Amino acid sequence: MHITLKNLDQIIKEIGEKIKEYNHENYSPKIIAVSKTFNQDHIMPLVEHGHFHFGENKVQEAIEKWSSIKEKNNKVKLHMIGKLQTNKVKQALKIFDYIHSVDSIKLAQKICDEQLKLNKEVSIFIQVNIGKEDQKSGVDEEELKELVDFCFDKKLKLIGLMCLPPFDQDSNIFFTKLYNLNIKYKFTEISMGMSHDYIDAVRHKATFLRIGSKIFGKRN
Ligand SMILES: *Cc1c(COP(=O)(O)O)cnc(C)c1O
Repeated sequence: MHITLKNLDQIIKEIGEKIKEYNHENYSPKIIAVSKTFNQDHIMPLVEHGHFHFGENKVQEAIEKWSSIKEKNNKVKLHMIGKLQTNKVKQALKIFDYIHSVDSIKLAQKICDEQLKLNKEVSIFIQVNIGKEDQKSGVDEEELKELVDFCFDKKLKLIGLMCLPPFDQDSNIFFTKLYNLNIKYKFTEISMGMSHDYIDAVRHKATFLRIGSKIFGKRN
C-alpha cells in the first residue's frame, strides 16, 4: 500500500474514533487531501483508491497537475485553498470546483462575472480572518455580513466559512468562533482543520478538513 494511502487510512480511522468519543451524530467530515508541491506519483494512489477531494493553493500548479487527472476522473473535486488574485479567477474557475478563499467584494464580483461568461458555477467559502492577524488573508468579522449579503445578492453558491487560526495559539478558540458564525448565517459547510489541528476541527464539527503534510509528508 502506498504511504499516502496508509496515512489517509490512519487519519480516517482516527477521525471515526473521535466522532464516537464526541458523540457527534449524523456527522461525517470530508477530507481534502492538500497536495500542493506534490506530484502525480503521490496523488494517483489516492485518486485510484477513490479519494475525491483534493486541495491546491496555486492556480497554475493546479492546472498543470490536475487537468488530465480530472478529465479521466470526473468524480475528483478540486479545492482552491490559497489566496486568489482577481486576474487568476478565470483560470481558477476552469480547474477548481470549490474556492475557500473568497475574502473581498472585488473577488466575489470577479467570480460572478467570469462564471457567467464560462457558464460554470463553483462552490464558495468566505475566508474569515478569525485571529485578526495583519498578515493573514480573510475578511474581518466586522465586514463579514456585507460580503455574505453581496454573495447572496449575486447568487453565488456560498456554502460556508473557512478559517486558518493563528499558528501559535490554541485552535479550539478560533474553531468555536467560526462554528458560531456558521450557525449564525445558517451555512451547512465549514472549512477548518489542518494536519496539526484537524482533531480539534472534528470536535467543532468542521465539514471539510484540509490535510496536507499528514498525508503527503513534509513539504520542501
Ligand atoms: C497548506 C494548507 C493546508 C494544509 O496544511 P498541512 O499543515 O500540511 O496539513 C491547509 N489549509 C491551507 C489554507 C493551506 O495553505
